[in-house]
Amino acid sequence: MRPIRPRRAEIIAVGSELLTPFRVDTNSLWLTERLNALGIEVVVKMIVGDDESLLERLVREALTRSEVIVMTGGLGPTEDDVTRKALSRALSRPLVLDEQVLERIRARFARRGLAMPKINERQALVLEGAVVLENRHGTAPGMFVDHEGRALVVLPGPPTEMQAMFESEVVPLLEPLAGGVKIRRRTLRVAGLSESAVDQAIAPIYTQYANPQTTILATTGGIEIHLTASGVTEEEIEARLDELSDRIEQALGARVFTTRGESLEEVIGRLALTKGYTIAVAESVTGGLIAKRLTDVPGSSQYFRGGITAYSDEAKCALLGVPADMLATHGAVSAEVAEAMARRVKESLGATVGVAVTGVAGPGGGTSEKPVGLVFIGLADDVHVESHRHWFPGDRARIRELAAQAALALLYERLL
Ligand code: AMP
Ligand code: MG
Repeated sequence: MRPIRPRRAEIIAVGSELLTPFRVDTNSLWLTERLNALGIEVVVKMIVGDDESLLERLVREALTRSEVIVMTGGLGPTEDDVTRKALSRALSRPLVLDEQVLERIRARFARRGLAMPKINERQALVLEGAVVLENRHGTAPGMFVDHEGRALVVLPGPPTEMQAMFESEVVPLLEPLAGGVKIRRRTLRVAGLSESAVDQAIAPIYTQYANPQTTILATTGGIEIHLTASGVTEEEIEARLDELSDRIEQALGARVFTTRGESLEEVIGRLALTKGYTIAVAESVTGGLIAKRLTDVPGSSQYFRGGITAYSDEAKCALLGVPADMLATHGAVSAEVAEAMARRVKESLGATVGVAVTGVAGPGGGTSEKPVGLVFIGLADDVHVESHRHWFPGDRARIRELAAQAALALLYERLL
């Protein structure tokens, strides 16, 4: 049997505005999702300004690499919209005036009581031999060209026009090309391990597999392991994903808190509910981030008692009853204070578990003894109190996010 491999696609987003700091190419994200669902893998994405000769060159290159090229943008009526001309040169096919398209554009203007401006005639120019794709939401038609066995799809830039055209006109043309291959993804999330620790533990496993493919990403919600599998049937794909996902879970244990893309705070919520725990948090350096994440989960009032943001030393004394001499002796950023905060917030809010965070987020305020990024996380329950020292890299925002994540990871481990 011929080994199956998904068709390879490239996306080219055209528009100089997409190369400024003010506009983002969102079309390619949407297209990638839809192409993947059809069993077509996206291997290259490009963003190009309205530059005819550059675009021509990039299209030629793409045609040498991939079976499917999807382009969006640059089909407007103005001089800066160069996609049609660039394609004509790249494929050595003339542009021809499509009378039907011209009539449709005229009628579109007429319906609004307007005469068609002369420049819109350009939008009726199509590549010789192209299948013209109707645009129900705008004037520029799209095109589908079968060029020497390569499928070239040309779509307008405005997302609503592009999406409607893709669904109604392009999907039926691409489906037969995909050869019935489907792609599915699974996201595993890991708490309490660094990216490199995760990779070290699982690289010997995932490198044995070409299908699924594995990528590891560090996010503020934990380390993510993305598995992407292809196959002909859903059962076959699920079986491939199950096999690798199970082996990764065996290697990492309960640190894998989800294989279904849930957030850590959602998993904590489920555990707290089923095991009958209630939670209270005392936050200094995270300023409420932990409470925010816990309360992002609907129904969190059933297990989250509340949080106290005690930022200054005075607040740590007044709101949490941290002894002033403890603050003076050890400093606010210390294991002793983290533990005291956890114990006191648990008691004063009547929770079964208290979590506390204190640290130095910077950029100022660091010393050689207590550098920027130093964070202590405390946890208290009915029988014991513990604390952990961390040193987080990055700027202020990142340090705070990593501290919140580490606190939630500790809470998760306790709830297990
Ligand atoms: P165009 O077809 O180049 O005239 O595109 C018209 C408008 O569509 C642009 O001004 C953008 O607002 C939008 N647009 C074009 N390309 C993209 C893209 N890749 N992602 C999101 N919006 C886009
Ligand atoms: Mg444009």
